Amino acid sequence: MDARHLSRRLATAAEFVPAGARLADIGSDHAYLPAFLALQGQIKYAVAGEVVRGPYQNACREIKRENLQEIIVPRLADGLAAINADDRIDTVTICGMGGPLIRNILDAGVSQLLQHPRLILQPNVGESNVRRWCIHHGYGIVAERIIREDHHTYEIIVADYGQGIRQLSPEEELFGPFLMREHAKAFVDKWVRERTKRERILYQVQQAQAPAEARITQLRSEIKMITEVVANGNGK
Ligand code: SAM
Repeated sequence: MDARHLSRRLATAAEFVPAGARLADIGSDHAYLPAFLALQGQIKYAVAGEVVRGPYQNACREIKRENLQEIIVPRLADGLAAINADDRIDTVTICGMGGPLIRNILDAGVSQLLQHPRLILQPNVGESNVRRWCIHHGYGIVAERIIREDHHTYEIIVADYGQGIRQLSPEEELFGPFLMREHAKAFVDKWVRERTKRERILYQVQQAQAPAEARITQLRSEIKMITEVVANGNGK
């Protein structure tokens, strides 16, 4: 992968960046996503934020290699501290991290989101943390995608302030309101695998000397929800 050849995962996230956006890509590593968009003429400006020096240097190198210094500014900073009001950011991408980390970055940087930029979030795991954060902060889910690439399944969640789906049932929070309805093969396959994982954990928890009843109840309830959602195809 490089700025000219994105992974399908990042290319799918890129599809939701509006033309002419002022983008902040947080946890940018090589800055492939903003560099790709800049090369396509899709964005006016971008901040590539990184908290770790090595990936920050990767971003600096890629931006220079592609001669994009006029459009993309690399910044060494923790989460949304990479952006300031003068950047006039209208779109934030946070991709390739766990859902709890994305939620923590959004929580810590909520004061940087006063202009209510579009959020394009791609958690590798724990997607419900991200959906819950969006709903609790006035963002609605406007689109979701699920893709399978290199033996991994990825979800992309797009949220706009005050738009889209602004209340979620427990099922929608876990499975994704759009993904549940779409019921794509990648979605069904993911949740069949997730059910097997939970069944194994349930078995182990039940074997413990002092089984954790709350955990057992939670696992049973999730297994039931998964079974129902997997069975409830939309006829496609
Ligand atoms: N976004 C790229 C992608 O999706 O391919 C890179 C993903 S990489 C697995 C995650 C990156 O997030 C790492 O480079 C890591 O240093 C960075 N990161 C983790 N926590 C961060 C934070 N609080 N602020 C900024 N960057 C962070």
